[in-house]
Amino acid sequence: MKASVRPLLFHTIAEFRAWRAALAPAAPLAFVPTMGALHEGHVSLAHHARKLTGPAGSVAASIFVNPTQFGPAEDFSKYPRTLNADLDLLAPAGVDAVFAPSAEEMYPTISELSTQHSALSTSVDPGPIATILEGALRPGHFRGVCTVVLKLLNIVTPTHLVMGQKDYQQNAVLRQMIRELNIPTAHVMCPTIREPDGLAMSSRNRYLSPADRPRAVAIHRALTAAKTAFQSGEKNPHTLETLMRHTIESAGLSVQYALPAHADTLSPFPATINAPCVLLVAAQLGATRLIDNICLEFTL
Ligand code: AMP
Repeated sequence: MKASVRPLLFHTIAEFRAWRAALAPAAPLAFVPTMGALHEGHVSLAHHARKLTGPAGSVAASIFVNPTQFGPAEDFSKYPRTLNADLDLLAPAGVDAVFAPSAEEMYPTISELSTQHSALSTSVDPGPIATILEGALRPGHFRGVCTVVLKLLNIVTPTHLVMGQKDYQQNAVLRQMIRELNIPTAHVMCPTIREPDGLAMSSRNRYLSPADRPRAVAIHRALTAAKTAFQSGEKNPHTLETLMRHTIESAGLSVQYALPAHADTLSPFPATINAPCVLLVAAQLGATRLIDNICLEFTL
């Protein structure tokens, strides 16, 4: 078997741009932004990216723990950083280049990085879709996400942006930004990769204690139970919400939200699920916050 080659690694914008400028201008370039601490979910995005671009195209990933999307009480400083292992994981997936800038490279004008998104002078305000669900619990989070992704898109100039369904609202917010700011990049959402028991893979799963780890699967159990109920004819959003909450709380997790939402706008259904729908969950287990979702197939 041919040994896979580690991707080229660039720490500065200038170096990355020089690599980008040498690619054939009309060839596709698919881009996978990440915060590192990579797992098979990220690797699957790299494989999708490779399939999209074909042998004539290229694949780039970024590894950057973006301070402006973390709140002051969140886990920015203790977020896992595992660059060498990340490069080893990306090599067999056919990633050509990795952009791993420092915070100073990305935000040279922010001297005090702990002040995070409030320290940005120019930023992207994604509007109402970013103030509900994750946005309500993490004020400023999507402003930080949109701003860093726009910066990365301006540096990488990819033809495709490849992201995971695991962060469903992030996809909705970024799809809107790409559309409304006329960014010439196609947004591609790929399926969530799960552990054998159903838990969605996440860099934060490593925070779970051995005692908590088996309980975490209650989130996926709740999502699939609600999906089964929906497929059997249950269209009342409140009934599905109660079912999910009960399943998750019975396992000892604390639910932040567990509800059906419109698949595009993420607005709640007042009485009946009568349009494409996603079930969205956020729950706290010990010190770890977990999110997950599942789409419901809707037919008139
Ligand atoms: P992160 O490193 O957490 O910022 O995630 C980087 C990208 O990987 C985002 O597009 C995530 O949605 C995606 N991702 C994270 N976990 C998974 C997973 N379990 N399956 C598929 N994609 C994922």
